Amino acid sequence: MSILAGRVVVITGASSGIGEACAWGFADKGARVVLAARRAERLDALVRKVEAAGGEALAVATDVTDEDAVDALFDRTIERFGQVDVLVNNAGIADSTPADQTELALWMRVIDTNLTSAFLCSRAAIRLMKPQGHGRIINVGSISARVPRANSPAYTASKWGLDGLTRALAIDCRAHNIAVSVFHPGIVATELGGGISSLPDDLVATPEDAADVVVHMANLPDHLNFYEALLVQNKIPFLGRG
Ligand code: NDP
Repeated sequence: MSILAGRVVVITGASSGIGEACAWGFADKGARVVLAARRAERLDALVRKVEAAGGEALAVATDVTDEDAVDALFDRTIERFGQVDVLVNNAGIADSTPADQTELALWMRVIDTNLTSAFLCSRAAIRLMKPQGHGRIINVGSISARVPRANSPAYTASKWGLDGLTRALAIDCRAHNIAVSVFHPGIVATELGGGISSLPDDLVATPEDAADVVVHMANLPDHLNFYEALLVQNKIPFLGRG
């Protein structure tokens, strides 16, 4: 039986894409899933589907940039399930604006959504995981935290920041048996940034491909940390030149 059976997994950005696929992936292993995002109707529909398939799920409409909303997410989780075993910080937005056209408000929105949210959720989770004596936090970064795209200063900075947050938390949390890790997806066919319409199938991954990696990283004994994963299309010019 999977170590995830009965475990409580909080997934941010669960209303679509990789987060939604993670909800299915974790539920399939017998985990109880807590689904957070802003679009409540999508989360409610997903809860109904997961429960119809025999799983247990809770939807909590949450703006992960809002400190009080994040605290409420974890309060609701404890109220319903009594514990938090895994947190997947997946919520994110894309941005392709060159620096000279990036208003401060846009910069802050990207940083708050992609980075500060992970700090807020991790802080709340760590406060619960420490007394439990175990826990796991998986941050969904990006291939942009390795090799940036042109015209993406805010997005790239947010994902490099998330990589740094992962490293810092991994060190601070290990004494408490909390494993902190990061998964960097390449191109995944989701709604991010308006979606991908023009790439051939062998240049994209499905949300399920990405979720399989996240679930695998969590599906390990508590003393092991699959610290870092990078999912890259074999044919994109990432490894070396062209
Ligand atoms: P989607 O747009 O499908 O999903 C993004 C999710 O984030 C949605 O569920 C959205 O829900 C949620 N979200 C956005 N802002 C907030 C907020 N303020 N509060 C709560 N939830 C929020 O895209 P993906 O599945 O592709 O993205 C998931 C992660 O994967 C992101 O962190 C992204 O940067 C990363 N990634 C994706 C890649 C790709 O090619 N798709 C490549 C590299 C990394 P809602 O709008 O309902 O709030």
